Amino acid sequence: MTSPNAQPTKRAKLTKPAKRADRFHLTTAIPYVNARPHIGHVLEWFQADVINRYQRLLGKRVMFTSGADENSLKNVQAAEKAGVPVSDWLDKYAQIFQDAYQRLGIELDEFRRGSDQTKHWPGVQQLWRATDQAGDLYKKTYTGLYCVGCECFYKPEELVDGRCPQHQESPQQVSEENYFFRLSKYQRQLRLLIETDQLKIVSEKFKKEVLSFIDQGLEDFSVSRRAGRARGVGVPVPGDDSQVMYVWFDALTIYMTALGWGYDHQRWLRFWPADVHFIGKDILRFHAVYWPAILLSAGLPLPKAISVHGFLTADGRKMSKSLGNVVDPFQLIERYGLEPVRYYLLRYIPSHGDGDFSYDSFERLYTAELANGLGNLCSRVAALCHRAGLAGGDGQAGADQLPAFSPQVAARLDELELGEALEIINQRVAAADQFLSDTAPWTKRVEAQAEVLRAAVQQIVQIATNLRPFLPQTSRAILEHFRQQRVAALAPLFPRLEQS
Ligand SMILES: [Zn+2]
Repeated sequence: MTSPNAQPTKRAKLTKPAKRADRFHLTTAIPYVNARPHIGHVLEWFQADVINRYQRLLGKRVMFTSGADENSLKNVQAAEKAGVPVSDWLDKYAQIFQDAYQRLGIELDEFRRGSDQTKHWPGVQQLWRATDQAGDLYKKTYTGLYCVGCECFYKPEELVDGRCPQHQESPQQVSEENYFFRLSKYQRQLRLLIETDQLKIVSEKFKKEVLSFIDQGLEDFSVSRRAGRARGVGVPVPGDDSQVMYVWFDALTIYMTALGWGYDHQRWLRFWPADVHFIGKDILRFHAVYWPAILLSAGLPLPKAISVHGFLTADGRKMSKSLGNVVDPFQLIERYGLEPVRYYLLRYIPSHGDGDFSYDSFERLYTAELANGLGNLCSRVAALCHRAGLAGGDGQAGADQLPAFSPQVAARLDELELGEALEIINQRVAAADQFLSDTAPWTKRVEAQAEVLRAAVQQIVQIATNLRPFLPQTSRAILEHFRQQRVAALAPLFPRLEQS
């Protein structure tokens, strides 16, 4: 029935012009909203928000979208456990997530809920019909080991001691007739697209992981569930009421329905394909294999890049309620402030690898790079300018004429290497400090002193310009301060931490 080596059929190209280069679409992953956002969510959102701000600062028209995966058996079970109707449960958590974005200073253009029957369901069904018309859906009876937590089937050899490797729970033996998607048909095409970076997986380590998964041979996967087993939750399969769609087929489509796919075609065309999906490594396979294959089948353009982050541990151990070591990102922000937490997650935690949180490393980084680094540099130069009564700034405060991003920083941002970009910026802070010590303006006469201070202010303005996507509030405060005609003394940007 399926021939793994069959070439995908040629499909009609989109007749509309491709998305213009001055437009940019990025997404965060579409989470289950059955708990409060954890620090892993916040890490991912900060990463995406840096690129959101960076692309806007480059003058592009940006669409920054996310949403909630709501048509899941997991949500039904959680609502039942809490003794509330599922819709109330979903409303509550969708709101909690949207409030969290707001509190974190992250401005999404669209948050698409999976339960939205007007702006989401028609798009999912349209995508289903497109893959069906391509001949890529067929029905078959399947028996397998299913983890509700993961919403996916496992092969026995993928289990650890008979349990799901993610949830440490025994999967259920499930046997039923479902629709299957001909993933096997796209094996060669997918491999080529990923190998050649037409679909770029960042970083290289994750790209290799995907390629090796593809090389093991792609098997067709089930894209529907018996409506009864899904407890009636889910997008109905067009023309077959007995089946609802597999949550991944449904949730991944949020990337397109957030733009208008299924109800506003023009708007969708303006921004699709996504320039980058930000995800965690646990859902790499769904994004780098399943999703592009579905899009290929439907004849739609693929996302250009997938930026993959790792997991966070606390003091070297997995965070868990039973260990009592779960780090609440909002408590952290309460204690240290929004931007220090943002800086830490972007700078100390690897952009594309696992990282370890500890209060110790947090406070060390804060003290070294924010209080003693950037903050002290700014206070020092401001104080010298003030004492000298010098016109330090370019008098452009409030005007738009800022220097451009440094090419090295821009290059790292283009490559989605956010930690490396911050590393370069931090080196510039150290270099500016060194410049002050070397030139010792306080020993110089008025003219020479003014020259040195103007150079130092220029360095600070360039540093703050580069920092805009990373620390929006701090960089704005620095730029406003140092671009005044007369630079006044400056209160510490990052107060020293009290010894706890
Ligand atoms: Zn699982």
